[in-house]
Amino acid sequence: MSETWNPWHGCHKVSAGCLNCFMYQRDAQFGKDSSMVYRTRQFNLPVRRCRNHNFRLLPEDRTVFVCLSSDFFIAEADPWRDEAWAMIRERSDLFFSITTKRPERIASQLPSDWGRGYDNVQVSCTAENQMEVDHRLPLFLELPIQHKSILHEPLLGPVNLRKILEKYSDKIEEVSAGGESGPGARLCDYAWIMEIMLQCVEYDVPFRFHQTGSCLRKGRNIYQIERKDQEAQARLAGIDYPSPLFAQCLEQSS
Ligand code: SF4
Repeated sequence: MSETWNPWHGCHKVSAGCLNCFMYQRDAQFGKDSSMVYRTRQFNLPVRRCRNHNFRLLPEDRTVFVCLSSDFFIAEADPWRDEAWAMIRERSDLFFSITTKRPERIASQLPSDWGRGYDNVQVSCTAENQMEVDHRLPLFLELPIQHKSILHEPLLGPVNLRKILEKYSDKIEEVSAGGESGPGARLCDYAWIMEIMLQCVEYDVPFRFHQTGSCLRKGRNIYQIERKDQEAQARLAGIDYPSPLFAQCLEQSS
């Protein structure tokens, strides 16, 4: 089971993948300025207890997705981050998943006892196109983080990962890819997804087709897919690696 924890809210657009940011679109509906970064009322959620003090609000053994309405490493949150790290350290019974488009800020924002990384923290770096693959990933993959993954979402074009996989395949726990959702979603080509999957198979790095996005091209056809169906449709493709379905497809094609 999973939980979300948004200790701060608000962000600044930094690259092409941010164009249709979900948080910006949702805030706009309420006339809110998404570029104002503030600490939320959820800030101390990981250490908060129920009224009778017996239970934590976040039960043990959950995966907690952090900062879905901001970027954990955004500069405005620098004064609050040490406290956030302390809560993450205290809740070693939870697994915290952090996604960022700011790998260049990570090294200076790690806590003093970080060492090779906390075992209960995974950091994913987003690379939506070749420019961000070349710029962000070499920086990110040199960092001392125990659990690292790469997220190509929203995938905006074909990407060549070979140089990255050749050098860092043993440091990447997963590569995942997906299209864009929501109003104005840009097209994702299934061929781009397949190309990433094949590169991962070549270097034996786990791959996951996370979701199709709203607008998926497959061959000559373009499909409009509702948000509720996007993850299920990606599962149906059967191209996650390694997976029993993938092994079955390989067997049938050989
Ligand atoms: S980094 Fe993430 S939260 Fe921030 S603007 Fe871009 S998409 Fe939105």
